Amino acid sequence: MSEATTATMHPSSQSAFDIVMKNFDHAARYVEIDPGYAELIKSIDREVRVEIPTRMDNGELRVFIGYRVQHNNARGAYKGGIRYHQDVDLDEVRALAALMTLKTAVVGIPYGGGKGGVTVDPRTLSATELERMTRMFIDKIDPIIGPQEDIPAPDVNTNAQVMAWMMDEYSRRHGHTPGIVTGKPIELGGSQGRAEATGRGAVIILREAAKTYGIDLHHSTVAIQGFGNVGSYAAWTLDEMGVKIVGISDVSGAIVNSDGVNIPAAINHLKNHPTLEGFEGGERMTNEELLELECDVLIPAALGRVITVENADKIKARMIVEGANEPITGRADAILNDKGVVVLPDILANAGGVTVSYFEWVQNLQQFHWELEEVRDKLEKILVNSFQHIYEIAQKHKISLRLAAYVLAIERLEKATRLRGV
Ligand code: GLU
Repeated sequence: MSEATTATMHPSSQSAFDIVMKNFDHAARYVEIDPGYAELIKSIDREVRVEIPTRMDNGELRVFIGYRVQHNNARGAYKGGIRYHQDVDLDEVRALAALMTLKTAVVGIPYGGGKGGVTVDPRTLSATELERMTRMFIDKIDPIIGPQEDIPAPDVNTNAQVMAWMMDEYSRRHGHTPGIVTGKPIELGGSQGRAEATGRGAVIILREAAKTYGIDLHHSTVAIQGFGNVGSYAAWTLDEMGVKIVGISDVSGAIVNSDGVNIPAAINHLKNHPTLEGFEGGERMTNEELLELECDVLIPAALGRVITVENADKIKARMIVEGANEPITGRADAILNDKGVVVLPDILANAGGVTVSYFEWVQNLQQFHWELEEVRDKLEKILVNSFQHIYEIAQKHKISLRLAAYVLAIERLEKATRLRGV
């Protein structure tokens, strides 16, 4: 295991970590915070880079690189997902870890923030190769994780099955430890309502914001970029509410239909196909075109930094719900703000996932199970309160909802840090 200190940069945009830090500095002006404390909260507690030797099915040995970044634990154990993607780098994992610190503070759950990632395109691995790589990664980060230390979860391209392997691998050394990861299958201590939580949470925040800003969702159109865990559950929840979705997309491209995309049919298509390729429900477009589609609400729910200075001006939506983490670069955010687009920030809009992760962990520690209704009710309360709180801060200081969310998080982090002492 080795400590890494260098960061790389996304080829076409700002450094992911820099965007978070700039927002932090901007928001900190609205908080009475001692500069030393601001520095302490911003800085990364620990970052680990590991090599993950993995035997392929044909006997060949491949070495993948993985990271776990522990950003801050002033309010509780480090918490955050693990992403498998070919573009994962230290800069991105740092940004995502810092966002988790802010996110858990925004919704007031007793965690800090961390994130992990492996630079790999998981589509190139068989299930057995993926399992071996996952177990080896856990092996390598075992010394720094634990149910009271650092609790991983799913993120881009990781799911309940991957969490099951992680829990199993950790439990081989430490005894049965369901609380080591969240987002597990229900059969292994996963929570009711966890799979749907991020998408459902994004819709709860959208519903509250639409009410507040006078947008009638039943006469609105929505476009969703990404049809993975977040995008598909957001689509499903909106469809159940009777809201028209005019465009969806995944790695294979976008499908657009001004009469509304048939969401149950799209979800059904994915039961027998790896992607939306071949789904005949509308006109084919690119992911880039989908972002610029004529619609009232846009939900980027795939990867980060997809809305940049290049396309921010061309966005037609009046409201953007950040289902993904950091889908908008700092400069694009300023352009959208100037245009009067209401952006529901990631650290609020996609916080439903980690909130139900918290419920899962509590159930694991108590060795107890909650019903789906209980999970949904508790999630609803937390998110509605958080939205209202952030909206009030935004009104008071005349700032964006993103900055207001940062303000709320920084206030809570500052208090916790001060009370604990340095
Ligand atoms: N990966 C999700 C996120 O970015 C969930 C994290 C968790 O449940 O710990 O919020």
